[in-house]
Amino acid sequence: MARRTLDLDDRLYDYLLKVGVRESDLLKELRAETSKLSSAGMQIGPDQGAFMHLLAGLIGARRALEIGTFTGYSSLCVASALPADGKLICCDVSEEYTSIARNYWRRAGIESRIELRLGPAVATLDQLIEAKVPEFDFIFIDADKANYVNYYERALKLVRTGGLIAIDNVLWGGDVADPKVDDEDTRAIRALNDKISADERVILSMIPLGDGLTLARKR
Ligand code: CA
Repeated sequence: MARRTLDLDDRLYDYLLKVGVRESDLLKELRAETSKLSSAGMQIGPDQGAFMHLLAGLIGARRALEIGTFTGYSSLCVASALPADGKLICCDVSEEYTSIARNYWRRAGIESRIELRLGPAVATLDQLIEAKVPEFDFIFIDADKANYVNYYERALKLVRTGGLIAIDNVLWGGDVADPKVDDEDTRAIRALNDKISADERVILSMIPLGDGLTLARKR
């Protein structure tokens, strides 16, 4: 048996999606709609959505925060795991993409749990910290990579002790481990990975799901 995670070829990944993920018709429709966009690759996969839904439910999340909402797939997965009076605050800069998300939130009947804050997320997070909002149980970071360290530091202030921060794209298509790659985004992700790897404030598990997902639980 292999000690490390399998390489999933298309056939095996399709099998995993078929037997291992229960994707609702609404999520399927959102995925189809998003696939027509040039930036469709920014959407998380159904397997990651199912995992995040499970995680949010597992930790009994009532308050969640998402940094980078795009067309709403991950927000639907997380918000649907919250109790009816739970809350998800979504940060994004795109009116265009989040208008798609809003449509699906409404159709899923969970729009009352979601509050969208349009604008640069560093400023939004600083406002939340300043306003001393109640702590969050679950925070998902999946926005511009240049600000990853800024988002992480603010997320650590906003999450409760024992709460979970999930960070997407930490393996960056493999570029993080390729010494020949030295662009700004890759350097930013490496910087965050290095930082968290030595950060005693959290319990860490980086998992090779999707494009790499770091789970950091605040001590
Ligand atoms: Ca992502």
